[in-house]
Amino acid sequence: MNYEKLKGLIWFNGKLVSARSAKLHILSHGLHFASVSFEGIRVYNGEAFLLSEHIKRLFDSSKMLEIKIKYTRDEIANACKKIIKTQKLKEGYLRPVVWRGGQSMAPGIKNAKINLAIAGWEWPIYYSNLAKKKGIKLTTTKWKRPPVECAPVKSKCSGLYMICTLAKHEAEKKKYDDAIMQDLDGNVCETTSSNIFFIKNGNIETPIADCFLSGITRKTVIKICNKQNLNIKETKINFKKLKSYESCFITGTAAEITPVNKINKIKYDTNNNILKKIMNNFEQLKKQN
Ligand code: PMP
Repeated sequence: MNYEKLKGLIWFNGKLVSARSAKLHILSHGLHFASVSFEGIRVYNGEAFLLSEHIKRLFDSSKMLEIKIKYTRDEIANACKKIIKTQKLKEGYLRPVVWRGGQSMAPGIKNAKINLAIAGWEWPIYYSNLAKKKGIKLTTTKWKRPPVECAPVKSKCSGLYMICTLAKHEAEKKKYDDAIMQDLDGNVCETTSSNIFFIKNGNIETPIADCFLSGITRKTVIKICNKQNLNIKETKINFKKLKSYESCFITGTAAEITPVNKINKIKYDTNNNILKKIMNNFEQLKKQN
């Protein structure tokens, strides 16, 4: 899909405007200096999934960029619901985005206009049903996650996606589905748009989110595990440890829960009972939406 040709309406600074006319200026600060925060929200059965969690994160990410959103959380939630209705979304996706306007062409920008737009489109599936069954393949990348002192690493802000895009391209060139990113010490972090979990001897482990996004799906999976009395631990996972695990899966708004069948040459079982249990529980949550 060419998103520049999206049909219907976009909520743009408080008004519904035609998607074709919802434009930002070429000299917007956000475009040049990455002063942009955004969200990705799934719509299941005509309702936004975990909407308040996503709106809270939009505020948290914006705050990390010293951006103050002038709308309330309720106003943004209502705007999301308006887009679901006007775009007639059943199984879809919402993309709220916040950016600084063009009042300066230098990094420093006080009193910039803060813009907020929300687009939505029908988007039933990210990874195919086959991928959900057979798993996806991950590979390593030369791009490392920056440490917490070097970037607002826990935000969902566009600047951090520069390395994600490059890492994803690197993986696709090698015929893999995605890249697994590490920190500077060789600890596993996340993929380019999802978090990662491992299973061994009935125990589930996921990296401590110290220099990457602790996704909303990641938190949901941890809650599922706790509720189901599954043994889950957040821990440092050095890349060298990966061959000791039996199963692996990724989590994200787009990826949902998708098994991993391979990381480089290491193979993983995609039929693991615990993995299936977590996937089933997640499907139940979606149905309750
Ligand atoms: N890490 C990155 C870099 C992401 O882009 C995403 C997707 N938002 C995630 C993790 C997973 O987060 P969530 O479960 O909130 O979608």
